[in-house]
Amino acid sequence: MGHQYLYLRFPGFLSKALTLSYDDGVPADLPLMEILDGAGIRCTFNLNSGLFGIGSRLSAEVIAQKYVPSAHEIAVHGYKHLAPTGLQTPAWMMEILEDRKNLEALVGAPVTGMAYAYGDYDARVVDALRDCGITYARTVHSTHSFALPEKPLEWDPTCHHNDKELMALAKRFVEESSYRDEPWLFYLWGHSYEFDERHNDNWEVIRAFAAYIGKREEIFYATNGEIMEYISAFHALVFDVENRSVHNPTATDVYLHMNGKDVIARAGAVTALV
Ligand SMILES: [Zn+2]
Repeated sequence: MGHQYLYLRFPGFLSKALTLSYDDGVPADLPLMEILDGAGIRCTFNLNSGLFGIGSRLSAEVIAQKYVPSAHEIAVHGYKHLAPTGLQTPAWMMEILEDRKNLEALVGAPVTGMAYAYGDYDARVVDALRDCGITYARTVHSTHSFALPEKPLEWDPTCHHNDKELMALAKRFVEESSYRDEPWLFYLWGHSYEFDERHNDNWEVIRAFAAYIGKREEIFYATNGEIMEYISAFHALVFDVENRSVHNPTATDVYLHMNGKDVIARAGAVTALV
């Protein structure tokens, strides 16, 4: 065979995906959720279950009623929002596992996503996270890039919503060709309370972003967890040595762009490539 190349495509052979990540579980998440729902955009909400109902944090009842049945994902943000590098390893592991346990009781499924409280982490913190079964964790380093995460436990977002480049990045993401080879991911993060009048009083920022980038047929809208599950399925594919067939051992259909052709590697099946 000639030159070989293989690129991930999102479901429907889309080459672009959008995901969001918002932290702390505060009342402003609810109007944010309404804006995102109106635009078909999906978000991961990172929650501190040890602070439910305390101060400005939403209660476990509201989480159960509003977040769990929604189109969005809930993920770990630490039981009590403690700075990870300030904790001894056993205390850090408790901070993760207590939060996992409480969130899993709410959703009735494994919760393996996270965002670092205060964006704080180092190599020891990441190792402990892995041992606690966390499979992806967001940092606060803006890349201004649309690359898929190379290290999911140090998943750098594209930008924060207060980034002055926000709409320029969105425009580039939408307007540049969708026939590029590498798949693109736009990853936006923030705190919903930052939109409130006590902070920046700028709800129009997220309304304008959602109105511009939402409801487009060329974009795959997914939570952090769905993006990770899809990328993991792509990495689980097994090709024969001549690339004449591919075995997809996962439960997810994987869309590929391979040697100029679009191919679906069907879940749990072997697909011929020639
Ligand atoms: Zn936080």
